[in-house]
Parts: sequence; C-alpha cells; structure tokens
Amino acid sequence: MGEKPPAMQELQYMTWEQVAAAVERDAGIALAVTSTEQHGPHLPLGTDAFIGHQLVLSAAEGLDLVVAPTLAYGYRSRPLSGGGQRFPGTTSLRATTFISVVADIINEFVRHGFRKIALVAHHMENQHLMYEAAYEVVGPTPSGGPRVMVIESPYPPEFSPETQQAVYPDGAPPIAPPAIGLDHASVLETSLMLHLRPDLVHADRMIDDWPERVPGYDLLPIPDGFTVASGVLSGAKGATAEKGEMAWREIVGHTREMLKAEFFSA
Ligand SMILES: [Zn+2]
Repeated sequence: MGEKPPAMQELQYMTWEQVAAAVERDAGIALAVTSTEQHGPHLPLGTDAFIGHQLVLSAAEGLDLVVAPTLAYGYRSRPLSGGGQRFPGTTSLRATTFISVVADIINEFVRHGFRKIALVAHHMENQHLMYEAAYEVVGPTPSGGPRVMVIESPYPPEFSPETQQAVYPDGAPPIAPPAIGLDHASVLETSLMLHLRPDLVHADRMIDDWPERVPGYDLLPIPDGFTVASGVLSGAKGATAEKGEMAWREIVGHTREMLKAEFFSA
C-alpha cells in the first residue's frame, strides 16, 4: 500500500478513540491561525487559510502531529499589511474576540490531554495576539505541563540566495525592503497559490500596485494613500508556480524544523 493519506492525521477525520490514542502516545496538535481577507483581484479571500492549512499539513508530514481544523478568521486587516477592512468579504475578529477564540481552542486541546500544542500564523495581524491567548491558558502554569509553541512567522528569516533571486530579481518589491507585509497578495503569495491552488488564481487579473506612502507609522482614521484600491500591496505580475514551489519548499522546511526542534527532538 502507498503512504497513509494526510487526512488521517486531521482532527476532523479522526474518531474520538483515535484522538484518545494520539494523546496516549503523546502526539502533538497543530492549528493554523489564518484569516478571511481580500487578496487582490486575482486571489480568493481564503488565500491565508488555504496556504496556512496546507503548510501545517506539509510540515507535519511524518511527525506525530494531529492537524486541527484551520481557524479561518483572524484579527482585523490593517491597511499596510492586508489592505484594511474596507473590502467586501474581508471578515475579521476584534482583538478581544480573537484572543478568546484562540484561548478557548487551546483550552480544549489541553482538556483532551495534548501536551504539545503548536499555533502557526498565516496572517500577519494575528501576531502577538496568539501569544496572548497562549499566555492566558498556560503562561502562568509551572513548567512540566502542556507547552504551546507560537509560530508567528512560518517564513524563514531569509530565503536561500537562489530563491530570493528568483522571487525578487530586482532586489525588492517596488516599495520598501522585501517586507513580507507588503508582499500581501503580491509576487510571493501569488506564486505560492499558483503552486498550491492554481485552480483558484485569476492569472489574467494579476497586477502591480502599492500604497502611495508607507511612512513607518499607522494612523486612524485611515488616511487616503495608505489603502490600495486593488488590495495588492506590491507587485503580483512576476508570480509563477516555479517561484512558488521554490519558496514553498523553504517555508515548509523551516516550519518543520521549528516543530521538530521543540517537540520531536530525541
Ligand atoms: Zn495573505
């Protein structure tokens, strides 16, 4: 027989007895914490959720890690990292709700008996708030109890020179250094989607666009010039499935190494 299908380690496909057995042998559990957010005219609102879920599944392959149903709602979209809330379809939680939802989920994992819990963000705005939720649940408890690993950025600090050169041949997105935030719905994320879910990419709608100004601070009410009508924060036009595959391999590898180092080192 071939490999075990990945679905077998997904919580929603398991029976309660299989979950009990997983807890018994000290398996971990991982949750992608993502968003329902506009991703330009060419990518679906579920982009973060699709990428995040597949990332956790791929990184968990061969590890004794149950993959929980992805949380597809995240914290409020901000103009300079996700385009902001003004787009139809972008559906977000306020910070207090988000923290409560994530904390409730962690509490349930703890109740099942899981002792290795990983949260993996694919939505920049979720950073810090995931930590807060984990802190609420296990922060004050003494060591020796369940541990929560908070992976706020699953991307490697740097891509290999080959991948960096392939994805950003001009050295950087059109504005600012290659900040992942400004790559929202741009060449990297679009390439990842062309690699993972080409059926969902409107390739004829890929454009280059960016905010008029990125001043290094945020401002409310949101001024004109901070938001991009298209929802694309730098350039999407150079995206290809090949670039996506190169970057994907490194993102999965990096995430997997983090999980292994903390939970599965002998
Ligand atoms: Zn995204």
